[in-house]
Amino acid sequence: MDMKAEIITIGDEILSGQTIDTNSAYIGEKLNHLGIEIIFKTSIGDNIKNISEAIYNALNRADVVITTGGLGPTNDDLTKKAVVKVFRKNLVFHEEILKKVESNFRKRGISMPKINQNQALIPQGAKALNNLWGTAPGIFIEDSKKLFFALPGVPLEMRSILESEVLKILQKKTKTKFFQKRLKTTGTAESIIYEKVEKLIKGERDTNIAFLPSFLGVDIKLTAKSEEKLIEVEKEIKNILGNTIYGEEDIALEEVLGKLLLEKKKTISVAESCTGGLIGKRFTNVSGSSQWFERGVISYSNLSKIELLGVSEEMLEKYGAVSEQVAILMAEGIRKISKTDFGLSATGIAGPTGGTPEKPVGLVFIGFAHENDSFAEKFLFGEDRNTNRERTAQAALNLVRLFLER
Ligand code: ATP
Repeated sequence: MDMKAEIITIGDEILSGQTIDTNSAYIGEKLNHLGIEIIFKTSIGDNIKNISEAIYNALNRADVVITTGGLGPTNDDLTKKAVVKVFRKNLVFHEEILKKVESNFRKRGISMPKINQNQALIPQGAKALNNLWGTAPGIFIEDSKKLFFALPGVPLEMRSILESEVLKILQKKTKTKFFQKRLKTTGTAESIIYEKVEKLIKGERDTNIAFLPSFLGVDIKLTAKSEEKLIEVEKEIKNILGNTIYGEEDIALEEVLGKLLLEKKKTISVAESCTGGLIGKRFTNVSGSSQWFERGVISYSNLSKIELLGVSEEMLEKYGAVSEQVAILMAEGIRKISKTDFGLSATGIAGPTGGTPEKPVGLVFIGFAHENDSFAEKFLFGEDRNTNRERTAQAALNLVRLFLER
């Protein structure tokens, strides 16, 4: 990593907790992709003295400083005033910025309020960064080898200027190029994945292999100094982990599944108990899912399992609603009434109440029925209700994916 950066977020509402600071996370990730290391993140309230101090300190320890917020006239142009103080520059009026701000207002059918005239004032020697989504332009100053950017606080505006202007400037300035790839896995614990690729990690000097676990799976992030090296390591990991990897970069499991169902011309329906519609939600996250997702039923009570899915009362009594047998019957039932190729089901004890020694909280059965057969898989998740439900939906989607990838 050749450059160091500090991100400063400005606004009383961030400190009070009214606004959750998503800007710095977003900027951090983008800079990281360029191989720029974030060494500090600072948050400060709407106070010129404190903002100036923070910018001053940041410029002393980082090569790149990016601020967000406090840039618009509603904030009394606090950030701009602080910038002027730190860099000891005057504000100068730019006719072309005023025209742009005016035209931004005109596009929205309103005439420009007087206070917005101040937006045409930019520190001497600074470059204005065009704001397509709002009125306050961003500011870029290059001074004594330091790169300083002030961006608006509104996330959409910040992101747009970051992508269209800031990253391009930084890309030109960074010496080292990094090549990155994210491989997404689900269904296998981080420790097991680690064991499998441990040898590779320990023997690998030029590529950084990082694990990013969440309760839905583990992402593996590869960072290499050359494209060839990246491809080589990626290949090795794919060989070792096989179909534990379901996709790359930002792809969602439901998108992968949707593509497979489309490719194989298969349709699916789902009967959900403990997930209460989450699986159907995941399916319908995918645009065009009507081509393969026929229907979903939330069948919570025993009666609904009998009435809607044709599960027999005897089986429910004998095995209980959370059982392998009932999961299979639910999957077969929904497949039959919806006339789809596949029927999927989920039944489990989400918690925190309802667990017994034989059937503890976190016990889940996912049923699957297809033309020739049906089966159910047992899972034992944790204590938290919401996590259990999300994990069940993820496991259900993954079960179908693995069936299709066989
Ligand atoms: P304006 O032109 O509206 O004055 P500004 O650049 O001064 O823009 P702020 O007023 O500081 O921006 O922030 C505007 C809104 O953007 C805030 O109310 C908040 O909802 C959001 N925001 C600000 N900072 C952040 C942040 N770090 N992360 C996420 N959202 C933020």
